[in-house]
Amino acid sequence: MKLSDSISIKPSLNDNQRIKGEYKIDNFEKIVRLIQKDHLNARDFKDSRDWLKEKVRIDLKQEIADLNSDEKKISGSVKIKLYLTCQNCLCIVESNLKIPVSIILCKKSKKVIKGYEIWEIYEEKIKLNDLIEELIIISLPLYFKHERSEDCIVYDYEPESDRTKTLPFANLKNQLNNDE
Ligand SMILES: [Zn+2]
Repeated sequence: MKLSDSISIKPSLNDNQRIKGEYKIDNFEKIVRLIQKDHLNARDFKDSRDWLKEKVRIDLKQEIADLNSDEKKISGSVKIKLYLTCQNCLCIVESNLKIPVSIILCKKSKKVIKGYEIWEIYEEKIKLNDLIEELIIISLPLYFKHERSEDCIVYDYEPESDRTKTLPFANLKNQLNNDE
């Protein structure tokens, strides 16, 4: 299935079929923008933009939820490797997200189906691209940090060599010396 293809809440030929595919992060504009924004806070700008090429693997299934109503059950998972800024030490950290998916797409939900989250959409269909993007965005951690605290460098730690370079007073002293 192409990312530009749509999933319809009406019965379709694709029902009961798997939606399986491998895409790249740069296929998802909103996510790219979010991560670029996140990286602005990072202390080390080793951001080589390679993360744009990381894979997004989807393995989903669409099924008719109820023959009498326009509801589509979507289940499966989305896997993605992201590089996010640790909010504790501000380093960019690799993070593997596996997002379990069990949602019901519909225009107006009529009943609750156990274990499924209701997603109301405005139209009869939603682009696969938009669906995946939404799923990833709502799964992003609000406060991301290193999983193991041992890996996390303290926020205000700065190597000695860098410190002398950035000390404001050192610059001031140099300026005074030059003025003499
Ligand atoms: Zn950290």
